[in-house]
Amino acid sequence: MFCRRCGASLPEDAAFCPRCGSALEAPRAAQQQSAQPYPAQDERPVNQLGLAGMITAIVALFVPFLGFFAAIAAIVLSGIGLSRRAQYRMNGFATAGLIIGILALLPTLAMVVTLFVCSVVFI
Ligand SMILES: [Zn+2]
Repeated sequence: MFCRRCGASLPEDAAFCPRCGSALEAPRAAQQQSAQPYPAQDERPVNQLGLAGMITAIVALFVPFLGFFAAIAAIVLSGIGLSRRAQYRMNGFATAGLIIGILALLPTLAMVVTLFVCSVVFI
């Protein structure tokens, strides 16, 4: 078997050409491709869950107290967006939302821990 694009010699069961990286139209690979429920990579929708999560996380960074809940919402949204990343493109939003969401949690967590420690020490 030879690559149709660059002519490199290939193993019979290769799905991709090791030299030029082009996908080979083996019957098995074609079947796998058509079985996928979503369209080709560039036609997938933007990961809007991830985008919503990132925006919520950024809002959470700047809103005291209520930001804690926004940060949790951001982490949940981003987490769901990230778990479905195979269906979407631009999944960096979900990753960013997760990271920023966790960062937004930290001030509130620090405050809660401080209050807890103070209450243990002084009461
Ligand atoms: Zn090739």
